[in-house]
Amino acid sequence: MQTKLATNLLGLDSEGMEKCFAKLGEKPFRARQVLKWIHRRGAADFTAMTDIAKDLRTKLNQAAAIEPPVVVGDSTAADGTRKWLLKVDGANAVEAVFIPEDGRGTLCVSSQAGCTLACPFCATGKQGFNRNLSAAEIIGQLWLANQALGCHEVSARAGIDSARAISNVVFMGMGEPMLNLDAVIPAARLMIDDNGYGLSRRRVTVSTSGVLPGMDRLAEECPVALAVSLHAPDNALRDRLVPINRKYPIRQLIAACNRYLERAPRDFITFEYVMLEGVNDSDAQARALLGIAAGVRCKFNLIPFNAFHDSGYRRSGAERIRSFAQVLQRAGLTVTTRKTRGDGIAAACGQLAGEVIDRTRRSKTVPITALGA
Ligand code: SAH
Ligand code: SF4
Repeated sequence: MQTKLATNLLGLDSEGMEKCFAKLGEKPFRARQVLKWIHRRGAADFTAMTDIAKDLRTKLNQAAAIEPPVVVGDSTAADGTRKWLLKVDGANAVEAVFIPEDGRGTLCVSSQAGCTLACPFCATGKQGFNRNLSAAEIIGQLWLANQALGCHEVSARAGIDSARAISNVVFMGMGEPMLNLDAVIPAARLMIDDNGYGLSRRRVTVSTSGVLPGMDRLAEECPVALAVSLHAPDNALRDRLVPINRKYPIRQLIAACNRYLERAPRDFITFEYVMLEGVNDSDAQARALLGIAAGVRCKFNLIPFNAFHDSGYRRSGAERIRSFAQVLQRAGLTVTTRKTRGDGIAAACGQLAGEVIDRTRRSKTVPITALGA
């Protein structure tokens, strides 16, 4: 039986696991073995770890646990997009979304329950902030998704599904990852660890609204791919759409992007740009972006706005988006337009709201227990 005092091994990267094992008087290679059992093979308890000595398994049973978040919702959209609602404590649940595409599968993970940064076009931002997720709660989303999709090594061997369903992970769910790096970094390290999920550094993308100190730290400690939510070509508009811009304006943001690329030399920054009708989507605004793009190696990803209740914004029309993209492309930039996925189950970008205590509308909050958990 797992006790509250037990260390949750799920959130420990290789360094953390070795430290934990050293405290138990165990060798580093044992730590690696257990890490592999948890993340490559999807072991949920120590009894499954057949090549670990029985006395160590008993010791682990007493001192440690493997505790993922609890799945309280699981829905699949017509396009195959699958969303899980995960309870992380009595008052909070977050969402993770799996997006299958030809030749690859992307898991979108959350890093916080809610968000402090209050971008007005984002459902998570509207709901306010509740707390940071732990590393176990972040990597637990990937662990659970692998479990649900049958692609841990054990289930793959059993012939359930040998395809490696999750080839990419993006930190584009709820929250601002750069404000929770103590948990995001170990989780990202597990994603790229060969004993963990073995994803290439470029297939793990952290998205930020531009929290500069966090960008510098991530560059130092775990330089995975970086996406930056730009959304406006000038400070006046960006101050409104991405309020953190008032603290870290565009010029400083671009300098930080270039510092990041020094640590990730052959990479580029992906600028995300949400298309809001009549707000940031004119050809003149596209031309104004060229000045920014000239300052850093980058690509653009246009995201058609995903509406949610009371947002007050509208999605730009398809023709407007095409024209905007063309201005950038004609200047030689690489531009992709994100396909809207999982709309029917509110799983698209910026629609994730989980079940966080809404500090602005507390009385309307549905307790998680009411979800049948
Ligand atoms: N906090 C981080 C990562 C999570 S949001 C960030 O802001 O980058 C992931 C992406 O979804 C960001 O580019 C964000 O601006 C965008 N987004 C938020 N709300 C949206 C909405 N309603 N429609 C489309 N994109 C949205
Ligand atoms: Fe937070 Fe990102 Fe949403 Fe802005 S867009 S409120 S930074 S989650």
